[in-house]
Order: sequence, then C-alpha cells, then structure tokens
Amino acid sequence: MRGISVTVTSRGTWYDTMTVPPPSLPSVLPSQPALRDVDTSPELLEASKKRAKSTNPSDTPIFICGFKACMRLYPTKERLMQHRKRDHASEDESCIITWND
Ligand SMILES: [Zn+2]
Repeated sequence: MRGISVTVTSRGTWYDTMTVPPPSLPSVLPSQPALRDVDTSPELLEASKKRAKSTNPSDTPIFICGFKACMRLYPTKERLMQHRKRDHASEDESCIITWND
C-alpha cells in the first residue's frame, strides 16, 4: 500500500496532489463572546507594527491553482498556467484563486 507522501519546504507543506485532500474549515465556526482587551497597551500595539507588515495585491500578487488538492501558489497568472500545462495537462483558466483580478 502506498503511504502518504508530502514534501516539506521552507514555506510549509505542499500536500500530495494524489492522496491528500486540501485542508478545510467548517463553514460556520463556533461563536464566543467578545471580550474587551485589557492586556494590550498602546506601546505593545506600536511595537507589533515592527514585527508584521500588511501588503496589497500590487505589492504581493498571488495566484493559487484551485484544482482539487493542488493549491500551489504562483506570483503570476502566466507561471500558474505553465504549471497547469505541465502538471495537470490542462489549459483551463478557471478555478484560479487570486486577489489580483
Ligand atoms: Zn495545480
């Protein structure tokens, strides 16, 4: 019997496209009461800005292959379509997850 095969990269885990379904979340998450944050000071908020940075579609283009159990990420639609041709033998331009269109 074939085992589950995954490749771990520095960016995380690429799921085996043949054996492992993509990760999923329930469509409704359990609710919980909102509580006032009494621990975070203005200084902590200011310091956190040095550790994280937000971005936008033009600075960080993202194109994800939305084919079942693939979810590979590319910086351009052209690179994604090269991947589709090579790895899926497809030129289908649907099922692309992006925030650039
Ligand atoms: Zn793909």
